[in-house]
Amino acid sequence: MDSALRELYQEVILDHSRHPRHYGVMEGASHKAEGYNPLCGDKVTVYLQLDADGRVGDIKFEGKGCAISQASASMMTDMLKGRSQAEAEKLMQGFLHLVKGEDASDLAEDDRERLEVMGGISEFPMRVKCATLAWHTYKNAVEEGAT
Ligand code: ZN
Repeated sequence: MDSALRELYQEVILDHSRHPRHYGVMEGASHKAEGYNPLCGDKVTVYLQLDADGRVGDIKFEGKGCAISQASASMMTDMLKGRSQAEAEKLMQGFLHLVKGEDASDLAEDDRERLEVMGGISEFPMRVKCATLAWHTYKNAVEEGAT
């Protein structure tokens, strides 16, 4: 990856971490989970409003931690809102492949372009858990977090 592109990606991550989207507590959430990454100290709570068919009607998060963990959570909420569970699952699997440096070609092209800013994480194995924390927490909220 050339350095100009890398800088652009860093800007996107910093922008998300400084101005997180969908940040805050959701009153009356249908699902909720808390996640913690002890390697780095990152914390994130994901709130969901799932529609009757499981679609992500609304999503919010709050948390504290490194720029990567918070930017990843912000980006995730932006991308998951309005998706069905099947679409969300596919997005998550593609993202996990991307940050581990694996083949993510099963992602839709526009999704891959948006998530690609996190692809550089694969060069820093210690930070992969920072990037994936929000996604695992989302999954826990769906599966075990009914309120
Ligand atoms: Zn972290």
